[in-house]
Amino acid sequence: MSEKNAEVTADSPDARLAAYLQRFWPHRSHEAGTLRNLCCFLGFHLWAQPDYSSQAPRRAIRFCRWCPMVEIDGTRYS
Ligand SMILES: [Zn+2]
Repeated sequence: MSEKNAEVTADSPDARLAAYLQRFWPHRSHEAGTLRNLCCFLGFHLWAQPDYSSQAPRRAIRFCRWCPMVEIDGTRYS
């Protein structure tokens, strides 16, 4: 497989930043139903973009409200 996987799980500075920021984000997977789980599974996340400029200035960071997915500058971490 030579296709690049957009969901990077390797240990990188951004992955560590994602894990760090996830602790601040109260994601609502417990409220998510089957349809929402399916949406996340298919890549249709309910993105929210809280202000993390104090922890990570000048980064494009957003979270899914239904699962622990984090996107930093277009790269997704879970
Ligand atoms: Zn999601």
